[in-house]
Amino acid sequence: MRLDNVIKNAVPRLLGCSDSALLDVEILLSETINVSRAYLIAHPEFELDKITIKSFEKKLQRRLNGEPISYITGTREFWSHNFFVNNTTLIPRPETELLVELALQKIPFNSDWNILDLGTGSGAIGISIASERLTCNVTATDICPDALKIAKKNGELANLTNIEFIVGSWSMPVKNRSFNLIVSNPPYISEDDVALKNLQYEPKKALISGVDGLDDIRILVRDCSDLLIQNGWLMVEHGANQEESVKNIFTNESWKDICCHNDLTGYPRVTVARYSGK
Ligand code: GLN
Repeated sequence: MRLDNVIKNAVPRLLGCSDSALLDVEILLSETINVSRAYLIAHPEFELDKITIKSFEKKLQRRLNGEPISYITGTREFWSHNFFVNNTTLIPRPETELLVELALQKIPFNSDWNILDLGTGSGAIGISIASERLTCNVTATDICPDALKIAKKNGELANLTNIEFIVGSWSMPVKNRSFNLIVSNPPYISEDDVALKNLQYEPKKALISGVDGLDDIRILVRDCSDLLIQNGWLMVEHGANQEESVKNIFTNESWKDICCHNDLTGYPRVTVARYSGK
């Protein structure tokens, strides 16, 4: 069958479960025949044999079942890098780039800062920061060994030697060390949030954090003061409706300069605070 006909048949089938049906079909097709999306558009007459169509159909079926495109292709772009992802890691979100951006605003060029990414998952945040600040040392931790395997693979793919990956729960694996800056995109969705219905393929452990979604942020704020140098920074991502609650968690004598930043879509997304040394 010709490429343009494969596309024409597949797109309407996806319309009900994806708001980017054409893009999804193009991505799955280019993945199947190992060409760029531009090639698909430039060669509508390209003939697909039966085996190739079968392999494309398999991928399309997964998408029709609601599986995110990134788990089907096994990759996701973030901060201009390609990251491997699988069902042990969250798929990096565009709004999380704000965390990288805010961290880079604080980290001086050519400094030797020690930076910690807690709950790194696929490694997207830590690796993006490490790639922009080659003189800094980044440590990335995660409680899930399988996720950390993916993160390590991503670190190698990015050809970085200034990042290390350690398995363990939050601050546990780095006790007695100190950092200039800590970033984290922890789980922050509440147990009964209806949004979870659309996130069934992603690891619950990386999404859900107790009844109000804030259990892990409470742990982070409590434990990070022991890990930061005086005036060191802690930056945590959180839900769009959690600005006030997160600010309250930070409001004690250990923290100063507490400030929430909006993401590109205008929602409160990352709270930054400075450890006062008390
Ligand atoms: N931002 C993600 C979402 O709402 C959740 C990520 C997280 O809990 N850290 O889909």
